[in-house]
This record gives sequence, structure tokens and C-alpha cells, in this order.
Amino acid sequence: MTEATTRKDRQTVEEYRMRTHLIHGNYHSKHWDFNHHIIPPMSASAAYRLGSVHRGAQGFVEFASDEADLKGDMPIYIYDRLHEPTRGMLEENLAYAEVGETAVCFASGMAAVSAAVGVCTKAGDEIVAHHTLYGCTYSLFTNWLPRFGIQVKFADLRNSKSFHEAVTEHTTAVYFETPVNPTLDIIDIAEVTSWVKAIKATRGADDRLAVIVDNTFATPFCQRPLTLGADLVVHSLTKNIGGFGTDMGGAVIASQQYHAPLLMYRKDFGGVLSPKNAWPILVYGLPTLATRMNNQQKTALQVAQFLERHPKVAYVRYPGLPSFPQHQLARRQMVSYDEQFAPGSMLTFVLKGDEKEATAAGERFIDYVADHAYCITLAVSLGQIRTLIEEPFSMTHSALPADVKCSKGVKPGAIRLSMGLEDWQDIIDDLDKALAQI
Ligand SMILES: *Cc1c(COP(=O)(O)O)cnc(C)c1O
Repeated sequence: MTEATTRKDRQTVEEYRMRTHLIHGNYHSKHWDFNHHIIPPMSASAAYRLGSVHRGAQGFVEFASDEADLKGDMPIYIYDRLHEPTRGMLEENLAYAEVGETAVCFASGMAAVSAAVGVCTKAGDEIVAHHTLYGCTYSLFTNWLPRFGIQVKFADLRNSKSFHEAVTEHTTAVYFETPVNPTLDIIDIAEVTSWVKAIKATRGADDRLAVIVDNTFATPFCQRPLTLGADLVVHSLTKNIGGFGTDMGGAVIASQQYHAPLLMYRKDFGGVLSPKNAWPILVYGLPTLATRMNNQQKTALQVAQFLERHPKVAYVRYPGLPSFPQHQLARRQMVSYDEQFAPGSMLTFVLKGDEKEATAAGERFIDYVADHAYCITLAVSLGQIRTLIEEPFSMTHSALPADVKCSKGVKPGAIRLSMGLEDWQDIIDDLDKALAQI
């Protein structure tokens, strides 16, 4: 009896809250019968036994077919780069977490960014992107895409005029991060998608114009862009979804129409997520996302308030602070699964002084932290259980031209903090000691 009824049949998944769902995942996985496993197995098989020529041929017919995917049967596994069970389970749970229809995982966040852009553009097309982007995304857009005949126009996507001046009949994708890495500026996803919808209404039915949102900073815990009208969401799983800083990964989550193109792109460009890297994200990362984010953002608020009060700090940018310039928009857009304000775990601050002084003070401050702090580590990346500090101007955003950075608020000496899970009082003590030294 219990063998015949799956756990899903007993009670539908929708009756549970997302926090619970992220831990228990989709028991009814078509990717593996793990009714008897508490933890999903880690698989490792580059190729699969096909049994007969007929079954092998059928596997190739069904690969990336919507019909086969929507039928929900276990896929005919052929080769890891096409389909793989451990990664497949992670993909099901990521799609659910982002409220999307399909998720396709890649070897890194940059492989996911490349794929999202790759399935939306061809030679002659244009992308309109927000002017401030993660450094490697900026480098991809300015150094590589033009070689394939794809031009990227930069605009301020908080501003309707700036956006509409950049869009042409050749635009097929709009790309941005929100909160923007590292300024934490917020782009109104619903507003941008409404502009795009109005433009699409003037075009032919087959003309594509997709909104792609890099949701790495916020995570699906804090905001779900697909529910606000975005077409594709990209993630660096290396960050808060992975959560522990052990493995690299990326994902694109979208509606079913992108399922086949994304799988084909991944098959042919090859940047596939290894099942050995998918497993920790499936078993440790995604299941603890809600708990980590809840705690990290409580700490972020305490730290932001401490820094804002400190006489040596010029300003702090954290969407959870009432002084944050777009606080009302943040409250509307950044909402957790249980409808609480979820301003995230990242903050940026600048020390006092004229530009030269603030730059020198920022560097001295970070160096002091690197040498003396016990619970704050100088490192790039973000979204780990350890608190990380860095200077975006010279590190994560070094690929952007200096004048772009300075005019858009990515100043030398500006400090980015990614809050971890340490006791918030210890983090403040480490910051306080370093501030006393400058
Ligand atoms: C880190 C990061 C990426 C790239 O992800 P990788 O996993 O390092 O390739 C893309 N976008 C944002 C916002 C990031 O922080």
C-alpha cells in the first residue's frame, strides 16, 4: 500500500510552505526513485546503458522535447551533458523555488548568463542592459558579444527615458541585476516589464523581446522576478543558493518555451553543471536558503544601523534601512515567500572624507580587517555562511571603465559586505575595531 502511494499523493506539495518545500524537495521526482532515500543519491555516470538501439534512438528523439518533458516520465538517460538525475532533481527544486516552469543548470553563474543571453539573441540583435553589472557580465557584453555581431547598449533602467532611448527595433533582450551589484540600486522589475510589454504590443507576434534578471543578490527567497513579468532569471549558484562557498554553479529559470533552447544550448556549448557540484547545492544549499537568508538579513540590518550611526562612515546603502533612497520600492519588490520584507544580506558603505581621503581610508580599513578580524574575511564572492568584505572598484568590478564606475557610484574605497551567519555582535566588534584604526 505505502509502496503504491507516493508521498506526493498523500498531500499535495502546495499545502506546505516554501521553507518546508525547499528542505523536502519534490518527492515525486521523475529523475530518480528515491522514496527510500532520505537524502537524494549523488550520481556519477558519464554515459548510460541504453539497452537497445530502439531505446537509444528514442532517448535522442525525446531529448529537449516539450512533450516528453511535460509528460513527466523518467527521461531516457544517455550522457551526462544532456540529462543527469542528481542535477535534474536540483533543477526541479530551483524551478519551484523561483516559481518558474523549467530550470537548466550550468557550470557557473557566467555559463548561465551566457546561455540566457545566447538563447535570446543572434547576430544583428541588440541587448539593452543596465549600466552597472557584475564585472564578468560587463566583460562578456563588451568584449565577446560584439564579436558575434550582438551589440549591447547601456542605459539607466531606473529611468524610462534612458531605457526608451536605448531600445531599437533590433532589441531582443533587456538585461539587469536588482539589487545592482554592488551599488544596491533597485530596478523596478514590474515597471521594466510593463515598458517591454508595451513595446512588444507594437511588434509582430514572432518578435521576441525578453527580460532577463540576474537574481543572484536577492535569491528567490527575497524576490521572484518571473512573477513580476520577467522572462528569464539567472543565478550564480556559487553564491547564496549554494550558500557554503564550496562549489560553483549557475542556473537559468524560465517558462517552458525556453526549456528546449536552453537544453540545446547547454548540450552544444557544453558548460554543464557536474552532478558532484549539483549535489551539495541540492542537499545543503537550497534546503537551508530560507533559514540562512532570514538570519543573514537580520544581521545585515544590525550592521547597517551600526555603520550608519558611526561618525567615520559617510553613508551606508542597505535596502532595509529607512534612509535607503529606494526604500519604498524595496519594500514592494523584495518580499519573502511568507510576504515579509526581505532586503537581503548585502550592504555597501563609504567612509568619510574627500574622494582621496575616503579611498585611502577604505583601503586601510579593509587591510586592517584582513589582518586582524576573526570573523570577517577579505575575499570576493558573496552569500556564504562567512562574512566577506571586498572593494568592488578594484576587485569584482575591475572590468568596468573607471569613469563608468565613478559616475555610477562604484567609487574607489567603497566597501561591500556580504553578511554571514556569525553572531552579529562579533561582526560589529570586528568592524568597530577596524574603524577605530583609521
Ligand atoms: C558571481 C556573480 C555572477 C557570476 O557567477 P559565477 O558563479 O562566479 O560564474 C553573476 N552575477 C552576479 C550578480 C554575481 O554576483
